[in-house]
Amino acid sequence: RNPDQWCRSFSHFIGQCLIKDFEARPSVTHLLEHPFIKQAHGKEVAVRQQLATLIQEQQEIGIIMSLTLCRHERINTRKTLIIESSPDDDLVNLEFLDEETIISHLHKRYDELQVYTYVGDILIALNPFQNLSIYSPQFSKLYHGVKRAENPPHIFATADAAYQSMVTFCKDQCIIISGESGAGKTESAHLIVQHLTFLGKANNRTLREKILQVNPLVEAFGNACTAINDNSSRFGKYLEMKFTPTGAVIGAKISEYLLEKSRVIKQAIGEKNFHIFYYIYAGLYHQDKLKTYRLPDRTPPRFDLYTATKLYKEQFDAIQECFRNIGFTEEEVNSVYQILSAILNTGNIEFAAITSQHQTDKSEVPNSEALENAACLLSIGPEELQEALTSQCVVTRGETIIRTNTVDKAADVRDAMSKALYGRLFSWIVNRINSLLQPDTNTSCMNVGILDIFGFENFKKNSFEQLCINIANEQIQFYFNQHIFALEQMEYQSEGVDASLVEYEDNRPILDMFLQKPMGLLSLLDEESRFPQATDQTLVDKFEDNLRCKYFWIPKRMELCFGIQHYAGKVMYNVNGFLEKNRDTLPADIVVVLRTSENKLLQQLFSSPLTKTALKCFGVFGGMNQFSGLNLDNFKRSTPCLVSQYSLMDLLSKMVVGQPHFVRCIKPNDDRQALRFCRERVMVQLRYTGILETVNIRRQGYSHRILFEDFVNRYYYLAFRAHQMPESSKENAVAVLKRAKLEDWVLGKTKVFLRYYHVEQLNLLLREVI
Ligand code: ADP
Ligand code: MG
Repeated sequence: RNPDQWCRSFSHFIGQCLIKDFEARPSVTHLLEHPFIKQAHGKEVAVRQQLATLIQEQQEIGIIMSLTLCRHERINTRKTLIIESSPDDDLVNLEFLDEETIISHLHKRYDELQVYTYVGDILIALNPFQNLSIYSPQFSKLYHGVKRAENPPHIFATADAAYQSMVTFCKDQCIIISGESGAGKTESAHLIVQHLTFLGKANNRTLREKILQVNPLVEAFGNACTAINDNSSRFGKYLEMKFTPTGAVIGAKISEYLLEKSRVIKQAIGEKNFHIFYYIYAGLYHQDKLKTYRLPDRTPPRFDLYTATKLYKEQFDAIQECFRNIGFTEEEVNSVYQILSAILNTGNIEFAAITSQHQTDKSEVPNSEALENAACLLSIGPEELQEALTSQCVVTRGETIIRTNTVDKAADVRDAMSKALYGRLFSWIVNRINSLLQPDTNTSCMNVGILDIFGFENFKKNSFEQLCINIANEQIQFYFNQHIFALEQMEYQSEGVDASLVEYEDNRPILDMFLQKPMGLLSLLDEESRFPQATDQTLVDKFEDNLRCKYFWIPKRMELCFGIQHYAGKVMYNVNGFLEKNRDTLPADIVVVLRTSENKLLQQLFSSPLTKTALKCFGVFGGMNQFSGLNLDNFKRSTPCLVSQYSLMDLLSKMVVGQPHFVRCIKPNDDRQALRFCRERVMVQLRYTGILETVNIRRQGYSHRILFEDFVNRYYYLAFRAHQMPESSKENAVAVLKRAKLEDWVLGKTKVFLRYYHVEQLNLLLREVI
């Protein structure tokens, strides 16, 4: 009926043949002479040509796949495995579902370089720790609008599913990528963006390139080398790709969550500062511009930048290219470099105590070079800067007094300034990208959102940053559970459908312990942060007195620590510096000085009070919030802890609106070794992410529940003629289901309950009919 479609299927079939047996390549010309083709389209040269091109494409894919196979000798004997999908691809199909079987299964697949495996509609991605040649444009073509079971599991298939679902149901989608640090989340997010730009037919090449450059640019500022991952994300990122209702990509928007600002001033042993500092040092060194930006050309003591000159030049060029392509002006980029260089210089400002007869707690800057450099780069007066660092105006009873800062206090103010500069610069870059990639306001658009959040962390020494990160992960896990388990069970019950309830580990009590008001851990921390006299000890005491649950404990022998039993394991936190980090205060004097700057960008960064910027970057103005009775007054007084809470609320509320797709990244070993599958490590990750329970519920469950009305409206073509417009009743829904020859569905009171694979079958049938 439809030559176009027929050609596609036929050429795909040929492609499959080629892949299965690529040495015996059938001659394309010969195939074109096949009587069936002649009969069907013999007279139409155009169709034949089209077919030839399609076959050519498929052939390319076939050859590439076969080459991939040959390269990995270990799997050479099983040539068809990579390209051919098999029941093995989905854990749901396994006969035995105990832990051992699942692990062995994943192990076997990993050895065969099959890093992806499904659990129903969830994708498990094992980090290969080596480059696989399965992400080329040919693969993008392969994973384009075909039935999922036709190809082996792939991250592109998840992107394709989200895309198809968006176009078919006109509904926003979100892809949630989770996993430990170093498990492959950020890489997966890149691959998804890559495939979505392909699917979104970004025929506007510039737009496509711009979108592809958003991640590298933002990551240069937000990622750093840690003990676990050389490119660890130090912020949470939610990237929304915007599409027209027909599925053409038209823009993008990015939201950032909880940048780890403290990294600017201090890094743990063996870790590094944000990438961008090394990149600009290397870049400016090679451009002979270190002097212009007042950076020292010897190894500076605070950052091991000198080695950077050799390593990071290319990255600098790439970042400059990103800035230019996305649309930043030269002036803006220059201001960004100035502020970054100012931060580097600020880090070198040292203080010394002045002891005179009358004052003992006064400080000064003995060596003014760094101070002058910083002031100059920030276009402010060095005296004013020194003043703001070493003293503060305090208003008491209507009188303004000047108080001097001790050496320690001055150093704190200096660090607070660096953090504020970097944090606001980062938010500004994100906002600027958003305005440059914003679609035309007149076009209606739909989104596919991709959430790549920092993974669960458990180091030897864990601090406030780890706590924030782990609470965020706790919330993501809760959302996952809600989606997979709790909501599912509730719906079965309300629809009167019998489904044996599946047990799962509910992390709600842990979340309550953190978030409850007024006695949750975060509220207690906030309360304590408001007392100027509070110390780390009073904080621990407060926790001990008020937190009574099995997920929290104070170890006997360790000082100033507390332990938390997270869903992902036990973590010991050291409270040293918690209060200060949570307060994150930036003295008004600093803001006043920075506002006098002649640098336009800097003026902009500090033109609004801190809270406003935070509000803007966390998107709280959007009038959301089903999760809390959020009011802005509350927010304005809030410390970062509350900010973190709210920012996640915002994030979760975004996800709840869309249809979720999950990618669970797993780290097969801790040494970043290719082809090393450490069973214990994988087992732990499978356990706490609830993969096992997921397997069960996916197998037993009905993942799609559609109102009779919606179901009939969507699929009536399958059983009725287009003009018939049947009534949206239960009976007609049944007629469609029977006609589509689906099995094993169930009817609830108001909805059709379908298995995860049914919807795919229906959509495919639909595409054939329309
Ligand atoms: P996460 O964001 O979960 O912390 P990343 O995505 O940064 O982890 O991945 C850590 C490292 O693992 C990457 O730098 C890369 O070397 C490797 N890696 C992850 N996914 C892949 C992949 N699909 N192919 C090849 N290497 C990968
Ligand atoms: Mg990451």
